[in-house]
Amino acid sequence: MAVLWLDEISAGDLEKVGGKGASLGELTGAGLPVPPGFVVTAGTYRSFIESAEIDEELFAAVDVDVEDSSALAAAADRAQELILETPFPDELREEILESYREVGDGEAFVAVRSSATAEDLPDASFAGQQETFLNVTEENLLERVRECWASLFTQRAIYYRQEQGFDHSAVNIAVVVQQMVDAEKSGVMFTSHPSTGDPTMIIEAAWGLGEAVVSGAVSPDNYVVEREDRSVDVSVAEKKVMHVKDEETGTTVEREVPDDKRNARVIDDEEIDRLLDLGERVENHYETPQDVEWAIAGGDVYMLQSRPITTIDDSESAADAASGSAAGGIDATQGITDGSGSAAAAESSDDAAGADTNGAESGSGGMLVDGLGSSPGTVSGAARIVTKLDDLDKVSDGDIIVTEMTMPDMVPAMKRAAGIVTDEGGMTSHAAIVSRELGVPAVVGTTNATTVLEDGRVVTLDGDKGAVLEGQEVEPEEETEPVEEVRPQSPVKPMTATEVKVNVSIPEAAERAAATGADGVGLLRMEHMILSLNQTPAKYIEENGEDAYITELVEGIRGVADEFYPRPVRTRTLDAPTDEFRQLEGGADEPEEHNPMLGYRGIRRSLDRPDVFAHELEAFRRLYEMGYDNVEIMFPLVNDAEDVYQAKRLMEEAGIDPEKRKWGVMIETPASALAVEEMADAGIDFASFGTNDLTQYTLAVDRNNEHVADRFDELHPSVLRLIGDVIETCREHDVNTSICGQAGSKPEMAQFLVNEGISSISANIDAVRDVQHEVKRVEQKLLLDSVR
Ligand code: PEP
Ligand code: MG
Repeated sequence: MAVLWLDEISAGDLEKVGGKGASLGELTGAGLPVPPGFVVTAGTYRSFIESAEIDEELFAAVDVDVEDSSALAAAADRAQELILETPFPDELREEILESYREVGDGEAFVAVRSSATAEDLPDASFAGQQETFLNVTEENLLERVRECWASLFTQRAIYYRQEQGFDHSAVNIAVVVQQMVDAEKSGVMFTSHPSTGDPTMIIEAAWGLGEAVVSGAVSPDNYVVEREDRSVDVSVAEKKVMHVKDEETGTTVEREVPDDKRNARVIDDEEIDRLLDLGERVENHYETPQDVEWAIAGGDVYMLQSRPITTIDDSESAADAASGSAAGGIDATQGITDGSGSAAAAESSDDAAGADTNGAESGSGGMLVDGLGSSPGTVSGAARIVTKLDDLDKVSDGDIIVTEMTMPDMVPAMKRAAGIVTDEGGMTSHAAIVSRELGVPAVVGTTNATTVLEDGRVVTLDGDKGAVLEGQEVEPEEETEPVEEVRPQSPVKPMTATEVKVNVSIPEAAERAAATGADGVGLLRMEHMILSLNQTPAKYIEENGEDAYITELVEGIRGVADEFYPRPVRTRTLDAPTDEFRQLEGGADEPEEHNPMLGYRGIRRSLDRPDVFAHELEAFRRLYEMGYDNVEIMFPLVNDAEDVYQAKRLMEEAGIDPEKRKWGVMIETPASALAVEEMADAGIDFASFGTNDLTQYTLAVDRNNEHVADRFDELHPSVLRLIGDVIETCREHDVNTSICGQAGSKPEMAQFLVNEGISSISANIDAVRDVQHEVKRVEQKLLLDSVR
């Protein structure tokens, strides 16, 4: 028998049908309302790989060092390929299809869900690691089953098993095939409190299919029900989207919730009662609190899944969490997403009753760790310790990421997060730059946040003062509009003779940057586009070809150039140190350097590899050909005129006319500051101060070293002297000057630069407005002084 029907299965069949299958079978057997279906057993998967004789090769392929990311990727690819390319034996094909035809008259839309045999063990939340497909029909059922099998070998799954000490060959996978419920409303429910185990049921509900809640696409309503007296505390959320089945294609699509339902309560008292009864029956059946996915369709309540809650903690910290921030212990893999935030708000509304709007009474407010306030704002949320990429999945909306240092592939999670805390780094580190551009408050360089803060603990982050405090000091923000936040409120932009521009590192920030009303982009960092490909340029080209790489660059720059057109966008050629490249696929080939900051980066790398550099220049040429005459080219880390002549020659060879286009250099080393006159003779249009590097190289202070962060001073007299001299020389030679380092956002620096006669200042997104005003104030004072 390749399949078992749900009513033939009980909890003891875990080995045969996996955690999900066993749970659904058990629930069906207990008379609970589970949609009908069957399970393609784990034994079937096993005999599939064994009879095709791919098993040995499969397990050998995944026996790799999982910390070696390219080996891990290759292992996952090979293992999946083996499964996906092995055909189904005829008998098996027929048995699965015949079973399908018995579900809902053979025309049913079914859900096809992986059910691994190591899933849902009490102390290992494997949940959600393997594939699930919705609205599947006969046509693609077999393919989906095979894809579920293959999903046992995603990079993430291989990595996770190795970390948890599971033997790859001992983990099998079954596949549940179950009739879809075309839900009008659905959600999740904790039958007891997920941190303390108290008899408090927490229900989350939204319109349409349940994935909208589970995936975090929607903020659901939150109902906290005291099981003893059935009292209900309701928090109705604004539900903007819902997932529904598209009538024509049968696929799940996201739709806007109609206006009259957006702020309406999803479940009424009678439905809460029915869910409560159901929840109590399930919990009694298993004799342990459950995390249940439920749906309501045609007036009937269905149970789609039930798992034991693995986060209940009997320790004292759980009791603390209960009084301060109830949902601190909820693990996002359990299916609660926004709920951890909304549950916290709902729960604490009792204790915090009467507290003022910033909720100051709900947290103790003691300092836990401190560091550099690198992106302004104060937020509260549950800390999520991220030590490896896999941990990113547990970061839900409103959480606070706590990590050693952020990396390019963390950007999607950084966007969801309410705040960011790092052990390492200074004001110009990746974490600091990206969080500022995203408008997410951040504290960097704490040295010890990942060891001091506990996962799930609710903390308050103060991105101005650089502190992380205990407890919830501010209410979670309902919805932030990062673009609106930076849009000038007053209709009249301060008119200044000195241009005020904005820095952009991640193309995703372009819209927000343009909304500031800045006079252009003073620095667009190309390397972030490349880092986000997750492969080194060489690797990307090897796999996708030169043209694909050039297209990536063109599209990345174009997005920003479009947003600002016709305002200028000064785009810098690649400048990533080898240690950042090493984290990418293909990065193993990067040279090992004692000090990457003094190493193979910027123009020196580009001139050393003109073949690779040519792709960047070709991207510029194509942009000019497309009419983006607002794009300017800037070369990083030049030292002297020789660097400039070589770069200029390569530009010409690439078909770019240096006389027609605006191009220039960054002043980031004392050598370049001292050589600016010769560089002016070489034909540069502008020189832009990269004060992050100019400061580190002038003062010998590693900009990313938190131990010397207090010595990193862009306003140091020696740095200012170099800058002042360069401005003077450039004015004599009709070369524009600018600043694009972090210091351009400091009012004191703006004051100094305007007095010296700089042509433009480029600031961080959040600082543009203040810099505009500061520049205007200084300019007016200069004017006044001149007539007095
Ligand atoms: C700088 O050095 O000031 C600069 C803007 O470049 P980056 O921070 O990318 O090194
Ligand atoms: Mg620099």
